[in-house]
Amino acid sequence: MAVRVLLVEDDAGVAGALAESLHARGHPVISVARGADALHHHRAADLVLLDLGLPDLDGLDVLRKIRAVSPVPVIVLTARGDERSVVRGLRLGADDYLTKPVRLAELLARMDAVVRRAVARTVPAGDVVRVEDVEIDLGARRVLVAGHDVGLTTKEFEILAVLAVRPGTAVSRQQLMDEVWGDAYLAVSRSLDVHLTGLRAKLDRPGLLTTIRGFGYRLGRD
Ligand code: CA
Repeated sequence: MAVRVLLVEDDAGVAGALAESLHARGHPVISVARGADALHHHRAADLVLLDLGLPDLDGLDVLRKIRAVSPVPVIVLTARGDERSVVRGLRLGADDYLTKPVRLAELLARMDAVVRRAVARTVPAGDVVRVEDVEIDLGARRVLVAGHDVGLTTKEFEILAVLAVRPGTAVSRQQLMDEVWGDAYLAVSRSLDVHLTGLRAKLDRPGLLTTIRGFGYRLGRD
């Protein structure tokens, strides 16, 4: 599948090499060097590759501004060891990150993964999953229990949605974290437990969201 890439990178050498490699793989590339230009062009892209060190704007500000208006997948390009920026980037809604120098094979694999997740997120409106008296409206992002909206947070809903698109099927913690957060580092692991506790409390249907010890979770009883 051809992915239209917006490449935001001010180093002309890096940008040129990346654009050429992506183009050779059949991915059209729009290449810009400034954050302001990224804000003008992201709507035409299926994926944004975003360098954080830009001449006019902080890359994280660019990310924040894109995220305010668009769900387009964003992969952040960072300098080695820039861990704080990575964590902030993921919190701001980056889908993944790559450390420079970027290796093409890794970039292509990450691109493929984030685009697949983005496609999976766009569930057709009207898709509703029912498990007992729990009704999960994936299009409207709403959950009714016995006919009442239980008011899930965004993350609670996303966790439930990952399980709901494959009811009765075991989903590993790793996969759950990967699909909801785009990563599986330690902070996310703790966060997942917190959101799961909240989700179970709001559903108030003990046993409906089954824990599979040492593996993950399943929507549906044993
Ligand atoms: Ca730069």
